[in-house]
Amino acid sequence: MPTASDFERMLRGVALRVTRPRVAVLSAVHDRPHADTDSIIGTVRADLGGVSHQAVYDVLRALTAAGLLRRIEPPGSVARYEARVGDNHHHVVCRSCDAIADVDCAVGTTPCLTASDDHGFSIDEAEVIYWGLCPACSTATSS
Ligand SMILES: [Zn+2]
Ligand SMILES: [Zn+2]
Repeated sequence: MPTASDFERMLRGVALRVTRPRVAVLSAVHDRPHADTDSIIGTVRADLGGVSHQAVYDVLRALTAAGLLRRIEPPGSVARYEARVGDNHHHVVCRSCDAIADVDCAVGTTPCLTASDDHGFSIDEAEVIYWGLCPACSTATSS
C-alpha cells in the first residue's frame, strides 16, 4: 500500500503542489478502485473533516488531468475514478449491480490500439467495456 509520502512524491512528479485534500483523494482512490465521486467525498471527509464537494471535484479534475487518476464512465453509470493509469486496461461491468472489475488487455500489450479504420486520427487509447452479470447477480438470477 502506498504511504502519504508516496502520494506526495507522485504529486511532485507531475508538478502539482502537495495539499492535504490532494493526498487524501489519491489515498481514497488507491484504497477503493473505481469509486464514484460521492464515495470519494465521503472517504476524504472522514479523513480530513470539512472539505467541500467542490474542493474534491477540483482535486479529482486536477489529478485526472495530470494523469495520476483515470476517470471511467460506463454508459448509464456515474463517473468512477481509479489510480491504475497508463496501462490501457479494460473493465467488466455488471448490468444488475454496477460492480466493476479490471480486465487486462485481451492479448499482449495494447493490440486493440490498432483500429481497423483509423479515419486519419492519431489514436492513443482504446477503451473496451465488457457487460454482463457479476457472479453474485448471476447466482441470484438463476436460482
Ligand atoms: Zn452484480
Ligand atoms: Zn480499472
